[in-house]
Amino acid sequence: MSDLELESEYNPQKRVDEFSSLEPEFWKHKKLEEMSKSEWEALCDGCGKCCLNKLEIKGKIKFTNTYCRFFDCKSCLCKIYEHRFKVVPDCRDITLEAIREKPRWMPKTCAYWLLDNGHDLPDWHPLITKRAASVNEAGVSLKGRKLVNETEVKNYEDYIVDWQDL
Ligand code: SF4
Ligand code: SF4
Repeated sequence: MSDLELESEYNPQKRVDEFSSLEPEFWKHKKLEEMSKSEWEALCDGCGKCCLNKLEIKGKIKFTNTYCRFFDCKSCLCKIYEHRFKVVPDCRDITLEAIREKPRWMPKTCAYWLLDNGHDLPDWHPLITKRAASVNEAGVSLKGRKLVNETEVKNYEDYIVDWQDL
């Protein structure tokens, strides 16, 4: 797949523009379990941090700065979103169970985790700003970080990171 195809197909702003058909501020009065599929999908801020490889060490999740080979660092979106579970057997679906799993493996900024733990959406969330780029501007996405493609990794333990927003 060329970069050109990728950019036109995986345009984060195109995804955010589609939010206009959703009920305004639906997340303020609906529980996660009451949301429609479109509302659920819209909660994802596109940070990309759940696509980092992780290790479980002594009962805690350690994130690494290595990313799934199908993650697109330019758009912070998955290159194979519709087929991800077939192609990558350990790609996790973002479900209520996944969000509530212990030890926690969702990053602290993840909208699903925030809402499920009684917080509001942050003011940089695309549902509020109507702009996909606001996530990058707030410094909470993977954009611009030092990342390593998992195909180049021999020992994941060498890549553990302790970023504040994980
Ligand atoms: S961590 Fe949460 S908000 Fe970020 S990309 Fe994953 S599901 Fe979306
Ligand atoms: S396959 Fe799964 S882990 Fe890999 S980039 Fe896509 S959503 Fe992320």
